[in-house]
Amino acid sequence: MNVFTIFGDPVSHSRSPLMHNNVFKTLGIKACYTRTRLEDGSKLREVFFSKALQGANVTVPHKESAYEQCDEVRGIAQTIKAVNTLVIENGRLIGYNTDADGFIHAIESFGPIRSALILGAGGTARALSVALRSKGIDVTVLNRSEGRLEYFKNEGIASYAWENFTPDAYDMIINTTSAGLSDNELPVPAAMLKELLTRTKAAVDVIYGKETPFLREVKERCLPYKDGSDMLLSQGVLANYLFLHRRYPIDQIESAMRQSFLY
Ligand code: NDP
Repeated sequence: MNVFTIFGDPVSHSRSPLMHNNVFKTLGIKACYTRTRLEDGSKLREVFFSKALQGANVTVPHKESAYEQCDEVRGIAQTIKAVNTLVIENGRLIGYNTDADGFIHAIESFGPIRSALILGAGGTARALSVALRSKGIDVTVLNRSEGRLEYFKNEGIASYAWENFTPDAYDMIINTTSAGLSDNELPVPAAMLKELLTRTKAAVDVIYGKETPFLREVKERCLPYKDGSDMLLSQGVLANYLFLHRRYPIDQIESAMRQSFLY
């Protein structure tokens, strides 16, 4: 039996086991997908091999340390420097990032977007900034602290910490922080958020499965919005396709995984 898992901390909220197990069951594949709460991200590779896993997903806060521990990193993950999907190939650990393509697919229904403000500067913000820029969208990043902005500055992306940011108009605002995931916090100070939401056309919160304080503010202003479930589905379909070494058609995987969203 092939075993897959999701590494993260926290990880108990993750829908990935349900999504991937539903694909394995529907396609008649002998495999099982579990959850692994990992406090120390530097142990990820060791735990991966000790559990004899065939593949894994990686979530908060270990995507950047997963990137460091791969034998090879492929595709957009090389630019993003964060990995959310791991696959074993000839005993080597291969890393990918399926969050980026998943997100682009998820925002298609908003219509044309020319500028985007990304709240947060972690692995997801990196993935989305690279993906949005590749579609010709003008990207700005806003984070609570300076520490993680270096990557964006090196990539030539406008990036600010709260204290040196002046709100402006952006077509889309995306919350990629973990504010609201297991607390009741807003991703930026309330007054700043109010001004940003007054001047935007659409909003996305990449957190799924709950109404975050950010999403509540968005809904109150009747803005078009998405939560993280569309992105979750798309990144999961692409990850499963890689887990199964591209042997099954993507549309079969997608339809099996979509079923798990009805539970
Ligand atoms: P990281 O740990 O890499 O980054 C977290 C970011 O959030 C940092 O910029 C951090 O700022 C900021 N942050 C954390 N807490 C707060 C707070 N209370 N107020 C303001 N900023 C805060 O996380 P990821 O980028 O990997 O993931 C972020 C979120 O995206 C998670 O909630 C995750 O569940 C979700 N996600 C959803 C996906 C989906 O498919 N729907 C896919 C991927 C992720 P600082 O630098 O100051 O610490």
